[in-house]
Amino acid sequence: MAVINHQKPDRMPCFGANCTATYEQMEKVQAFWPKAHEDGEAMARLALASHTILGFDAIRVPFCQTFEARALGANIKPGKLPDNMEGIPGIDHPPAFRIDDTPVFPNDFLFRGHIPELLKAVSIVKKEVGDKVPVIGGIIGPFTLAGSLIDTIPLLKATFKAPDKLRPWLELGEKAGTALAKAIIDAGADIICCEDMTASPELIAPKTYKELELEFQTKQFDAICVPTILHICGKVDPIVKWMAQTRPDILSLDTKTNPKVVREKCGPDIVLLGGVEVATTLFLKGPDEIRKESEQAIADGIQILAPGCAVGPGTPTKNLLTMLEVAKEH
Ligand SMILES: [Zn+2]
Repeated sequence: MAVINHQKPDRMPCFGANCTATYEQMEKVQAFWPKAHEDGEAMARLALASHTILGFDAIRVPFCQTFEARALGANIKPGKLPDNMEGIPGIDHPPAFRIDDTPVFPNDFLFRGHIPELLKAVSIVKKEVGDKVPVIGGIIGPFTLAGSLIDTIPLLKATFKAPDKLRPWLELGEKAGTALAKAIIDAGADIICCEDMTASPELIAPKTYKELELEFQTKQFDAICVPTILHICGKVDPIVKWMAQTRPDILSLDTKTNPKVVREKCGPDIVLLGGVEVATTLFLKGPDEIRKESEQAIADGIQILAPGCAVGPGTPTKNLLTMLEVAKEH
């Protein structure tokens, strides 16, 4: 929290803005997927492991990106991985809505799907850690949520063929994410992290972010009264200036984006989180490489050391512990 408030912290913080749950943590705290995606108590137990097992300086819930979409009627597929291991649930085909449908925000949104269990998990975690560790609640950005409802391909086509047809879906996405954020804050969260994966320049034209998403993301962050994190995957250089204009407190960066470039484009005030690549480095390599990548990221301007995206559930604990070791040296 000191870093967010532009004060000098006693040392560099280390935590994940995205999911950091792994099979090894599940074993240690006896809270497994899929139950920990759906049941508030199991969810809380696994979320707490990021602090009790890894020693990370913040605790994030939930572990997937389907809470708002499920509550709005999207079809969800379970998180089965090819080797029959449990992964994170995702959005299934066919999409629940077509772009010409009328988007509706249900009055009982917060009581739908697994949202009550998520709120329960946040309150259990907060009760457990009190003011000692910040709790991060995850929501999904308007653009990504719109894609979860009408499917990504029609969404992407509409960005250049019929952008005005997208606006009501973005409005619904903003409304749903903001409502969830407020409920998560009421349940005890200290920070809100918004993941907007589909708004990455790797999927949409940069000007689409400026012309369509900037407005809705700004509206969302303006309505949230606690510090915020914005995470967009991939190399975000072409849009990062606008990402900063949505006024998050922290930008969570994929390792494809150089923090030096972000600092140049976004000015001195925004806090930069990120550092270690998740798929090849954290999952497959060892402490030496993780140490090297962490040190480089810190030299490039990262202020909160973190995995660059959600970690693979098979990631070894010792690799994640290495990140914390490095942070403690700064
Ligand atoms: Zn990501």
